[in-house]
Amino acid sequence: MPLDLMVEKAFRLVKDGKIEELDGGRFNVIGDHGTYIVQIDPNGRLTCSCPGFGRRRMCSHIAAVIIYRNFRSYKSS
Ligand SMILES: [Zn+2]
Repeated sequence: MPLDLMVEKAFRLVKDGKIEELDGGRFNVIGDHGTYIVQIDPNGRLTCSCPGFGRRRMCSHIAAVIIYRNFRSYKSS
């Protein structure tokens, strides 16, 4: 998936409320093809349980969590 399409999809996931924060730095991301877990490790690195992440080390779910966290920090400040 081209990067611009991935970002567009990520924004849509956030806007449609498809991100659910879990405990332990984990997020449920309800994607078009299934629900995946995005995990933030103590170094701030993100991993995703979807097959696309396994191939490319990047996916729209991770991009969505990054956008979601940025929006949340705007709201709380
Ligand atoms: Zn993913």
